[in-house]
Amino acid sequence: MKKVCIINTGGTFGMDRGQRGYRPVPGFLERQLKKIDELYREGMPDFDLVEYDPVIDSSNMTPGHWLQIATDISNRYNAYDGFVVIHGTDTMAHTASALPFMLKGLNKPVILTGSQIPLLEIRNDARENLITAIQLAVEYHIPEVCIFFGNRLLRGCRSTKVSATSFAAFDSPNYAPLGTVGTNINVYTHRFRAADKTVALEVVPIHAQSVATFRLFPGVNPEVLDNVLRQPLVALILETYGVGNGPSCDQRLLDVLESASQRGAVVVSCTQCQHGSVQQQNYDAGSAFFDAGVISGNDMTIEAAMAKLQYLFTIHDDVELIKEQIVTNLVGELTVEFD
Ligand code: ASP
Repeated sequence: MKKVCIINTGGTFGMDRGQRGYRPVPGFLERQLKKIDELYREGMPDFDLVEYDPVIDSSNMTPGHWLQIATDISNRYNAYDGFVVIHGTDTMAHTASALPFMLKGLNKPVILTGSQIPLLEIRNDARENLITAIQLAVEYHIPEVCIFFGNRLLRGCRSTKVSATSFAAFDSPNYAPLGTVGTNINVYTHRFRAADKTVALEVVPIHAQSVATFRLFPGVNPEVLDNVLRQPLVALILETYGVGNGPSCDQRLLDVLESASQRGAVVVSCTQCQHGSVQQQNYDAGSAFFDAGVISGNDMTIEAAMAKLQYLFTIHDDVELIKEQIVTNLVGELTVEFD
């Protein structure tokens, strides 16, 4: 009999109504799951539920929680065919972006899911998301961290939350879905990341680092950016226009960026666009940023770039090495042909 481990971190999925809105309540999800007959029908795998103490709204997620999830998967790795992580939608893409860096040698499905409406409500997206996530976790050999949500299976480190209200809350704009679900479950194995079967699973912690994002906009004050770029900041994601452009006529802004990179801060350019990649040398207005020491984030999502920077600064001291790794595809988080 196949077996899946369900890890409940919290999120809308298992929340109860409170006086100030939906809130996580210990033990509530377990009672709700007992009412879903389909989970106990023939054809469904056995499951164990691990609930976090406390269960949280994912707005409160930290790299410490990522480590708990990675460690719990690692400790139970051989006992289960796959893992389903119930998670709030607000930071699900961040966790799904971090876990691939942390679960080195992963060769089993880790499927994050959640819902926009809690299971307790009559009309909800929780039930379908969970049942299909469980089936995906045991029936298909998916060797990576994914999000299953709104009938699509997405690579975790390519995902981003695109809707606060739609049942299709997530997208992976720069990587085609790993699966789509309708009357059939279609899984596109050729899009899976090749698992390294020679290595055992190893958890690599990510510790919180002094990183930030800064979004360019017309009228941006370089002094504000200068303040952001001061110590203790070690890395900044600069959210640039289009293919990596910015106000290249603002010499003070370029000087501020250049002196930050000279003091060893890593500045990574990610596009403000939903889809596409940074290609800094396509325009004069992008080359100026390249010359100021800004490096390309390629087609990484902000979530992936943020997780990757925190990962790299956790495991390395050498800034030049970190810059090299930023533009290298490590876990399927960026497309190499854009380089
Ligand atoms: N605030 C909730 C959370 O992220 C939203 C959700 O789960 O949809 O935990």
